Amino acid sequence: MFHVKHPPHLLLINPWITDFAAYNFWVRPLGLLSIAGLLRKIGFRVTLIDCLDSVIKKREFGDGKFYKVKIEKPSPLKSIERNYSQYGIPEEMLLKKLSFIGEKPDLIGISSGMTYWYPGVFKLIEIAKKFFKEIPIVLGGIYATLCYEHAKRHSGADIVFNGRGESEVLRLISQLTRLEVNPDSLPAGASAQAGEFPNSQFAISNEDYPAFDLYPRLDYLCIATSRGCPLRCTYCGSKFLTNGFYRRDPLKVVDEIEYWTTQYQVNNIAFYDDALLIEPSYHFIPIMKGIIRRGIHCDFHTPNGLHIKEIDQEVADLLFQGGFKTIRLGLETSNEATQIETGGKVDNQDFKRAVRNLKRAGYSDEEIGVYIMVGLPGQRVGEVKESIAYVKEAGAKPILVEYSPIPHTPLFEKAKQMSPFDLENEPLFQNNSILPCQWEGFTLADCRRLKEELRRG
Ligand code: SF4
Repeated sequence: MFHVKHPPHLLLINPWITDFAAYNFWVRPLGLLSIAGLLRKIGFRVTLIDCLDSVIKKREFGDGKFYKVKIEKPSPLKSIERNYSQYGIPEEMLLKKLSFIGEKPDLIGISSGMTYWYPGVFKLIEIAKKFFKEIPIVLGGIYATLCYEHAKRHSGADIVFNGRGESEVLRLISQLTRLEVNPDSLPAGASAQAGEFPNSQFAISNEDYPAFDLYPRLDYLCIATSRGCPLRCTYCGSKFLTNGFYRRDPLKVVDEIEYWTTQYQVNNIAFYDDALLIEPSYHFIPIMKGIIRRGIHCDFHTPNGLHIKEIDQEVADLLFQGGFKTIRLGLETSNEATQIETGGKVDNQDFKRAVRNLKRAGYSDEEIGVYIMVGLPGQRVGEVKESIAYVKEAGAKPILVEYSPIPHTPLFEKAKQMSPFDLENEPLFQNNSILPCQWEGFTLADCRRLKEELRRG
């Protein structure tokens, strides 16, 4: 067992991204920061190192490029003719931060993002192990949950955590540090089965907010007003990653936004919700009315696609008046058969109506970004061309997003059958940049051509 000083000291680290491309669209490790907030509240000392806290060439809304260093491609990706990089703070800066920590931590927690970013996670674990010999390392997050066996076998972490929810994290940490934490005594929203998220019965105080104050500078942050999604799109990992759908009390959300905008002068906030607009009269509408009523001025962004079905005139007006500057709609395809086959979250009538409402509210064509999924298993290039034309004709801006096969989703099985890559055993092949489900009806060259055509307008 581990020797534990009191109060226990936890070092939490968010790893680099390793990929062919990456961009900082208001990236923050919200899960890690929420846990940090909770741990501090119950007496832990927490140190945070975020390897993705890097924005160069900052743009109007605080987003921008990551600092990057070209690195060698992992061997399964050797044949891909593109540069591969490590995105985030330079390695020397990480080492410096580690050496400034002072007192050794009792436990190190490392998060993980996309499954195919695991090389950055492994490298970080290796560095942390060299730096703090004998200190146990717990790996959690999306990769650890979706590729649990892979992570256990290869990551080098002492413990791989694939649980969902703060209560499970606290139980594990209390075992490891021998500090008595009774997750069952936490307020309802935090201890509910997989109810990672405070619901309306869980009165959040300022200390319960994600620990954004651990950042030396806070130009932007993210917020989640809900967890999970009640819909079931066949390509989406939301259901596997979150058991159920939980929403916070709208007024508590407004309180949190007011707190960060007034106490820390944050003026860019990205909503990380999977389902921000579901049943808007119970959730989004009271949140936005609260923000407007209290005179909160902030630029909001929704890098995750919004639910098109819910955008009636009232919602569109509140998006515009409330300060949403970056909006993304999750259309994915205009092909009606594919829409139904993949879960039926939207149809073309809903889409046209939503765009009309957004324009009436005040948005321009350029400001209404619409995601179109590229390279779904068995998809032909013609379907994407039609979707692009459809979105343009409706008066919005198509944004192509290559499909990334996500383990444990219904579509993953089909993707495995259609893909020329071993998606099951090598998460690197789940990288959307390589177009994992390419075939003669939709090649990588087709994909590049489409993007180029779109860029030229
Ligand atoms: S609506 Fe969005 S979040 Fe919900 S299941 Fe579909 S893709 Fe996932």
